[in-house]
Amino acid sequence: MNARVAIADVAMFPERLLDLRIAQLGIDSFENTQASAERQATMMGRLARYGFDAHAAFLSSKCRGLNCDSRACPAACHVASRLHRAEIILAESELFRHGGEDVHFFTVVPSAWRVAHDKLDAFEPKVVAGLVTRALRSRDAVASFNVELVLCREDDETYWAPHVHGIAKGRRRITIFNSLRDLSTESLTYRPVVVRTVPSQEVPITLNYATKRVDELKVRYFDQEMKPRWRHVPLSGRDQATIDAWRCDRLADAMHFRIGFKRNGRFLVRT
Ligand SMILES: [Zn+2]
Repeated sequence: MNARVAIADVAMFPERLLDLRIAQLGIDSFENTQASAERQATMMGRLARYGFDAHAAFLSSKCRGLNCDSRACPAACHVASRLHRAEIILAESELFRHGGEDVHFFTVVPSAWRVAHDKLDAFEPKVVAGLVTRALRSRDAVASFNVELVLCREDDETYWAPHVHGIAKGRRRITIFNSLRDLSTESLTYRPVVVRTVPSQEVPITLNYATKRVDELKVRYFDQEMKPRWRHVPLSGRDQATIDAWRCDRLADAMHFRIGFKRNGRFLVRT
């Protein structure tokens, strides 16, 4: 990897420049500022409707609206999250595409770390990140991943399950698969470990996917061959407000983790 990669200060970009830079990487579905602001307004209304007034007030006190700073505002802020994702995609695309090694996308659902439906506050992304980091770390490994929460329902049990999406290089695909598989031993219904090699030109869209927030309820059912499947449905208003409130207590970068490199001022550097 390069000695260091500059991190663009995307908050200072004119909006059209940011959209252009993202589009040049082959990403055509990146949310624009207006859509982020609309989602923000909807979220604020919902937080108030479900009794999270203190969270809404806290977010309002931190947020500078369309001029929001990605490092100071809570993770719940859609404007800050958008900028944070843009920073990651621009800088990490350069980092992962340099050097010509194979880059692998991975998904893992560490099944032991689910939390009960009404115990979301007990969930700490750092704990899951520590597990994933221990599994993937080696002298040459470089990886970046996001920890997100998905609400799952199996029969009568409803729980929040961490879903980890990321990219890695410096280790073989099969080594990554074997290292992550052991984090998912408890659930018989998931096939939670996916490791797929991605062509260099697809690194940006893979980062776009890996950093995307997917708020949904997954309901398990069985198909005609009695194989377990998941149906994806939107969260209820109350569940959406609950996870948005949870994100009010965290910064925009609290769900993003790096192995083998770190942020140092306005640069990414190898560790
Ligand atoms: Zn904000």
